Amino acid sequence: MKNFFIVIVVIIISVGGLFAQPKPYVILISFDGFRWDYVDRGITPNFDFIKENGVSAKSLRPCFPSKTFPNHISIITGMYPEHHGIISNSFWNSFTGTHYSLSDTISTRDAEWYKGETFWETVERQGIKTASYFWPGSELTLSYRRPTHYHKYEHKRPCRERVDGVINWLKLPYDQRPYFITSYFDATDTYGHEYGTDSPKTNFAIAQLDSILGYYFEKLKEINLFDSTNIIVVSDHGMTEVSIDKIINIENILNGYMYKQNDNGPFMMIEPETGQLDNIYNKLKENENHYKVYKRENVPAYFHFSDNPLISKIVIIAENGWSLETNKSFESMKKWNTKGNHGYDNYSMDMNGIFYAVGPLFRKNYQVGTVNNIDIYQLLCKIFNVFPNQLIDGKLERIEYILK
Ligand code: AMP
Ligand code: ZN
Ligand code: ZN
Repeated sequence: MKNFFIVIVVIIISVGGLFAQPKPYVILISFDGFRWDYVDRGITPNFDFIKENGVSAKSLRPCFPSKTFPNHISIITGMYPEHHGIISNSFWNSFTGTHYSLSDTISTRDAEWYKGETFWETVERQGIKTASYFWPGSELTLSYRRPTHYHKYEHKRPCRERVDGVINWLKLPYDQRPYFITSYFDATDTYGHEYGTDSPKTNFAIAQLDSILGYYFEKLKEINLFDSTNIIVVSDHGMTEVSIDKIINIENILNGYMYKQNDNGPFMMIEPETGQLDNIYNKLKENENHYKVYKRENVPAYFHFSDNPLISKIVIIAENGWSLETNKSFESMKKWNTKGNHGYDNYSMDMNGIFYAVGPLFRKNYQVGTVNNIDIYQLLCKIFNVFPNQLIDGKLERIEYILK
């Protein structure tokens, strides 16, 4: 009798297996600082191909602050920065005296800072292998919190080498092969900062990244995976023109006050010394011109930038194009001759990025409005049919209609 039941169970599992969905392939590509309207310059034929054959959104709304690390982590966790913990590209934990910075690999690899669950973790736990050819937060020292296959970030690694690396992963035997892969390219951010949004050099970067899409298509065709791969192209934020004529020197305003300052440019965090909060806040409020100053608990709700003790007690957000600087950071801005920046109000269109998707699971020739980057994690969970982490901010109903 016992054997009979075992045979029945084996038959049910085998028949179920016959009807089990094959695992989808998804490549999530990020073009850093690729503003939503860069595709309207007539130099992006591969984006035009996706528009015709897949889904194109008017724009992708980043989270505040519209900077690289907070937003890549929001895309991959479905959480606002206040909840996943990477509240800027660099910030202090004043409770432990430790510092996080994108240029300090000890901090960027330390899992302590990352309070969210990445999609790599969610899907690997459910038996699907993943890979990352660069993505902020993909290099943690704890192996169970990172993708099976990954590369340590190298800014100058040639673009085509990155694509070839992804293609090689897709040629691995099935038991090692990743089905979800992230891929990252910096060119539009690097050139946008250096030359501004409208320069021929930035147009060159836009065209270069478009050609990388073309190279992906070509290489996927070569390994016969073009028709079965879903490609999602995003950017972490946009870019706006800045100039040294639009400077607010916070150090001059707060001369004589006791505080610690963090970040500069589009937004700044101020941690007053004990007993100084109201004096400093009032001083900044009196001088409020081309910026807004808030106590942490009063940052407008739509920024979702209050609910984390590492956010300083005072947050200052500049008007688009204006820069909040100290004497030292202003010198560095002049030295580097910075022409473009991001980090401003995430609802400003200049801070919006791109969302394009093509592949067997996506609707064809389907144009939608603005998509929120925190909803992408939910979309990925739906695509792979896995249970999402329950602590997320993203909402499936705001995005699932782009699937067939
Ligand atoms: P930002 O423009 O300051 O928000 O940051 C953009 C910079 O982030 C890029 O120029 C890269 O140097 C850096 N970056 C991007 N991804 C990574 C990564 N995975 N690890 C370290 N740095 C990165
Ligand atoms: Zn960026
Ligand atoms: Zn940047």
